[in-house]
Amino acid sequence: MSAVAEALLPGGFDVAPEVVAGIDALAADEQAEAALEAAARACRHCSEPVRLLGRSTTVDGETGEILESFSSADTPGGEVLKACGTRRASRCPACAATYQGDARQLVRAGITGGKGVEESVASHPMVFATLTAPSFGAVHRRPGAGGPCQARGPGRCQHGRSRSCLAHHGEHEGVLGAPLCPDCYDSVGAVLFNAQLSELWRRTVIYTRRRLARLAGITPKALDALVRLSYVKVAEFQRRGVVHLHVIVRLDGAGGGMPPAGFSAAQLALALRIAAGQVSAPHPEGRGEARWGEQLECAVLDASAPEQVRRVANYLAKYSTKGSDDDGALDRRLCSLEDLAARRLPPHLRRMAETAWRLGELEALKGLRLRRWAHGLGLRAHFLTKSRGYSTTFKALRAGRQRHRRAERLALPEDHALLVLAKWCYVGRGWRSRVERFLVEQAGRQLEEARRFASEQHLLARGVSP
Ligand SMILES: [Zn+2]
Ligand SMILES: [Zn+2]
Ligand SMILES: [Zn+2]
Repeated sequence: MSAVAEALLPGGFDVAPEVVAGIDALAADEQAEAALEAAARACRHCSEPVRLLGRSTTVDGETGEILESFSSADTPGGEVLKACGTRRASRCPACAATYQGDARQLVRAGITGGKGVEESVASHPMVFATLTAPSFGAVHRRPGAGGPCQARGPGRCQHGRSRSCLAHHGEHEGVLGAPLCPDCYDSVGAVLFNAQLSELWRRTVIYTRRRLARLAGITPKALDALVRLSYVKVAEFQRRGVVHLHVIVRLDGAGGGMPPAGFSAAQLALALRIAAGQVSAPHPEGRGEARWGEQLECAVLDASAPEQVRRVANYLAKYSTKGSDDDGALDRRLCSLEDLAARRLPPHLRRMAETAWRLGELEALKGLRLRRWAHGLGLRAHFLTKSRGYSTTFKALRAGRQRHRRAERLALPEDHALLVLAKWCYVGRGWRSRVERFLVEQAGRQLEEARRFASEQHLLARGVSP
């Protein structure tokens, strides 16, 4: 291995020999290396950039002067690369890091204000809650601090399998989350729970409002005229393949401003707690119902405590880039059971996806669109969703970033009137070779690490623990 390849592959990276040979060849060609670096910078180290042909011209809206003109014909590769923008860390680490940053800002703006959100929201009653899924059968679980498996039960099941496990599982062991007996485990119930998550949450909000009205001693209708509930929620897949929901719920005035005096965060927390214990969403055709698990965390969120705000925002943002499995095997829609069989997955997640696929056939469950969402193990919808009034949007954050970059490039104020005339046509996706992709990802990773280090130093200098 050459010195260049070695420097790029620290810690014994497991890389195919042809990739190493490719790295060496590229290192010998200065021009090609510089072109790749420029292309990587242009799409901010995206793993699967969209390749485009075309041009864009930026005109000063006030003077009509052409400020910037850019054509794919001017680039070394003859194409313009645009970042893929995915949220999935398993698909593109660089774009997922950007998405995570936006998710953090979006969550945060809803707590403290900023990014177009009134700063007075910080004094609204607010709670942070985690709603869990119930048990669908015993699974292998590792205690947080290590120690023996938490699966405990008496004797053996009807299939002759032990109901207990005494093993000490490693943190990344594939068996974690797997049922002790796959035949006893209620995968149907688990898939249906995921599929009904949005409906269960919708009902939880209604129940919370009712309970809040009762605590305030008014009718639900009178409450509607006074306040609204704004929220952001993030779905987190557990290893067992069911979802937990992390939510921030904020009490606003009916029109969005400060809620009237007399409503407290403690009241809101109590209302949510009671609602979560009572609510259910019936499955179609008497196939049972979805309910929250008994484990419920619900705490008052204090917007004036920066540490707490940062922790909660980071926590929610972290889960926003994850999928239903760690390795991305379920990032894409399933086409068939054969397609599923070809993907590398832990057996219990495969079983969940298969269950979703098979249930999708049933006429009675058609409304849940389980085939379309079998790769989400039944979970429809996005991982991060919010009520309209909670905060800014991903779209607005992206547009703001673009505006900021352009203004910086052109040395103009951000609100300067500009007209951008662009025509692009799609030619393809991804890098031309594995070598290119590998090098770009590697450089992106190093940049991200440097960025993280700098931000940690910045926090430490301010006396905040990162
Ligand atoms: Zn990307
Ligand atoms: Zn175990
Ligand atoms: Zn069994």
